[in-house]
Amino acid sequence: MTGTTLGTSPYRSYVYAYPHKTAYRPLAGRPGGRPLLSDLWATERKDALSLYLHIPFCEVRCGFCNLFTRIGAPDELTTRYLDALDRQATAVRDALGDDAPVRFTSAAFGGGTPTFLTAGELERLCDIAEKRMGADLSAVPLSVETSPSTATADRLAVLADRGTTRVSIGVQSFVDAEARAAVRPQHRSEVEAALGRIREAGIPVLNIDLIYGIEGQTEDTWRTSLDAALAWSPEELYLYPLYVRPLTGLGRLGAAAQEAGGPDAAWDDQRLRLYRAGRDHLLAHGYEQVSMRMFRRADAPPAGPDDYACQTDGMIGLGCGARSYTSSLHYSFDYAVEMREIRGIIDGFTTTTDFSRAEVGRYVDGEEARRRHLLQSLLQAEGMRSAEYRERFGSDPYEDFPAELERFAARGWLADPADGGSPSARSASGRSPAGGPAASGLLRLAPEGLAHSDALGPELFSPAVRAAMAAYEAK
Ligand code: SF4
Repeated sequence: MTGTTLGTSPYRSYVYAYPHKTAYRPLAGRPGGRPLLSDLWATERKDALSLYLHIPFCEVRCGFCNLFTRIGAPDELTTRYLDALDRQATAVRDALGDDAPVRFTSAAFGGGTPTFLTAGELERLCDIAEKRMGADLSAVPLSVETSPSTATADRLAVLADRGTTRVSIGVQSFVDAEARAAVRPQHRSEVEAALGRIREAGIPVLNIDLIYGIEGQTEDTWRTSLDAALAWSPEELYLYPLYVRPLTGLGRLGAAAQEAGGPDAAWDDQRLRLYRAGRDHLLAHGYEQVSMRMFRRADAPPAGPDDYACQTDGMIGLGCGARSYTSSLHYSFDYAVEMREIRGIIDGFTTTTDFSRAEVGRYVDGEEARRRHLLQSLLQAEGMRSAEYRERFGSDPYEDFPAELERFAARGWLADPADGGSPSARSASGRSPAGGPAASGLLRLAPEGLAHSDALGPELFSPAVRAAMAAYEAK
């Protein structure tokens, strides 16, 4: 298994799921066609499933966003959407059957902005998760995404009452001019008020998302945002590098990276500098680094599964932008970024009556499962235990990915396990594969490896997935 080197920019792509949705294809017309969900799930373990409900609506479309979401949804559309979600949940629960125990161990409402829904609609969303799917929201970790203008007291009260354990709010910047530059117009006063309401609602874990790499952002203004966030002592903070992707608002503005048709070295430098400044600031303020983006307050209560859990199979996604995973197929509905396409897909979802089959997806074979496991474990600061990999796959990661791991080691991206302590405290020394980190049981990234997560991740994509992603026509 070898991979090609993909340029030198530290910012190739954010690997939050593998394979990416742009590698999915319509299943109709392929061998086996659109498989019945009941067949797909018949032999799967269903006693520790994750449940994800996707709400594809937002008040504004942020300039950097390529998520599957639309703005300006009239009331009747959210009603129709919830009606369809209800039908889908009923069909999916039927397909899971009752021959083996079906149990959900975590739940999340994502988007879009789930709190675009009214308080009454959020009650209904919780009912769909509980009454249709059988998830006990009061007993499992439940994470919900929100935004400053939709985090209202009545919605938060419903979420708290129904067992929400974590609220994640996209702030991006506490500096108004930067929020405008990222095409997310908002005032700091609104953001502060929303944070106050979230704390008053008493939901145990608050996550704040911030973005670095915005035009005009300096280390000083970045520090202003970090300190404003820290004033709320959030249990978690996510620091995201800004990306300019095709068909997003910023992409259309013809930002530098796109005009030049390639990586922008000055922008890369700005992002790397701000990343390091942000990381060091949070580490100095009692936070631990969980991954390149994620930081957790050292004394925060356990939050339940985080993105590390993505590597487990067994995800049920409901809604038109949600993915579902069995051990052999990742599937969802169609995917788009462009507004007209998104509207069409949402309208199609709301008129669907037959939810018994998988529509769009990608089969995941043994090699892809190994890549996925390595990728998603390695991108976590705590790294990957080789023994766990061997137990799951019967082989050693260095046998399966010699070229990639050797390259990462040569670049100083792999940590020397002899360096104890937190990733940030360890040196950035690389090790050669022979008798290296894997042999001693733990394969993990050095600080420079974590800093280059978005370059390292794509190098672990298989040639087939890379080809499918390249052939995908953005719409
Ligand atoms: S970043 Fe969040 S709030 Fe902004 S458009 Fe995307 S999903 Fe909506």
